[in-house]
Amino acid sequence: MSRVRMKPALVAINAVLLAVTVAAQTQITPPKNKYSPADDVKLGQDAARQVEEQLPIMRDEQVNSYLNRLGQRLVDAIPPDLQHPEFRYSFKGVNVKEINAFALPGGPMYINRGMMDKAHTEGEIAGVMAHELSHVALRHGTAQATKATPYEIGTIAGAVLGAIVGGRTGSYIAQGTQFGLGTAFLRFSREYERQADLLGTHIMARAGYDPRDMANVFRTIEQESGPGGPQWLSDHPNPGDRYNYINREAAVLQVDASRVRDTRDFRDVQAHLRSLPPAPSTEQARKTGAGRYPTSSGGDNRPSAGRIDRPDSRFTTYNEGDLFRVSVPSNWRELSGSSAVTFAPAGAYGNLNGQSVFTHGAEIGVARNETHDLATATDELIQSLAQSNPRLSRPSRYERTSIGGQQGAHTVLSNVSDVTGGEERIEVYTALMRDGTLFYMLGVAPREEYNDYDPAFRKIVRSIQFTR
Ligand SMILES: [Zn+2]
Repeated sequence: MSRVRMKPALVAINAVLLAVTVAAQTQITPPKNKYSPADDVKLGQDAARQVEEQLPIMRDEQVNSYLNRLGQRLVDAIPPDLQHPEFRYSFKGVNVKEINAFALPGGPMYINRGMMDKAHTEGEIAGVMAHELSHVALRHGTAQATKATPYEIGTIAGAVLGAIVGGRTGSYIAQGTQFGLGTAFLRFSREYERQADLLGTHIMARAGYDPRDMANVFRTIEQESGPGGPQWLSDHPNPGDRYNYINREAAVLQVDASRVRDTRDFRDVQAHLRSLPPAPSTEQARKTGAGRYPTSSGGDNRPSAGRIDRPDSRFTTYNEGDLFRVSVPSNWRELSGSSAVTFAPAGAYGNLNGQSVFTHGAEIGVARNETHDLATATDELIQSLAQSNPRLSRPSRYERTSIGGQQGAHTVLSNVSDVTGGEERIEVYTALMRDGTLFYMLGVAPREEYNDYDPAFRKIVRSIQFTR
């Protein structure tokens, strides 16, 4: 066994702690599994990519750093014999309103905004996460697939996604795949549920939480879920008597009143979430392209006509997957899409005639490029922009520039805003990434505010670093 490498002294201390607690708590043995932990990682990463293309992942720094701190604290509390050093844990918020959370094999975990919104305490969020984490640590996804046949690792992801998206939408995505294994991955048997509940209580106790909050959050989910019933509970069926056996296990774990139940951080995150535009439903988010702009309905939601704050002189840095790093004015919010991300100040974005629109800010993304040179690839990008912006001017020439160490092109176009009817300036910056992908940034501002925005756009471009 060469899994967790620790200093000898620490191992000894852990052994003592275990010896004290093992006697009383329920022993949990991971089920039989014909897959390797590396298979869990691969499956989970493949599914995570699909999930992140389909669902509006929050890129909100406050939310994600909070979820990461909490998640990491729970990961550290997984009992040593169930730690898998190769697992790649991640914790991300999803900007949808349903009360749900899910984890993929090998580590990626997603927590819906609705879940964070409706949890009563940090302990309740920790409870849901500890339960999900237990399925991951016990490798229940692949254990369940071990029982299912036929099974092919390459085709499972679609089924996983179907199960995640859930409800009516999910069921026909799942039908589109060859194997009806959506349920195998995320809808667990009652036996596995009981294991995840019990291991979840151990993880919570080891992390300093009161495990009874896991029992409480299941009640919260039941009570707060809207029509159609709670998705979470159909994926994680109650093995019977759940509330009571969790509390009995908690009693064995000798939990006292000093346990963390709530924190200021959690309250701050909830307050922050309330300040954002309402989250869409999962179905709405999928229809409008991964819910790129957080609006409350499918109808128009115009950017405001009022004054938009000038770009802040302080900048905030964002990491965009494995693609690039960029810094933007701190008062701009990140609105993520499937192939591009938009940064815009409050009031400057919304929906119009079913299209996402913004009046101030920057869209940054990547586009496939069929081996063209930079100028041709940029021409094509501008042509495709012109399809949804019929009054966009054409570039007279490209100015050479440098973006992230690569040769880049820059031009300024004019357009008539569909939102205000006024003239707007569009700064186009492009570069070819090392693998030939076209990288672009579009800076948008009304003509009369251009002097405020041009320096910000230049500073953003200078901050770009390619990370692949
Ligand atoms: Zn479960």
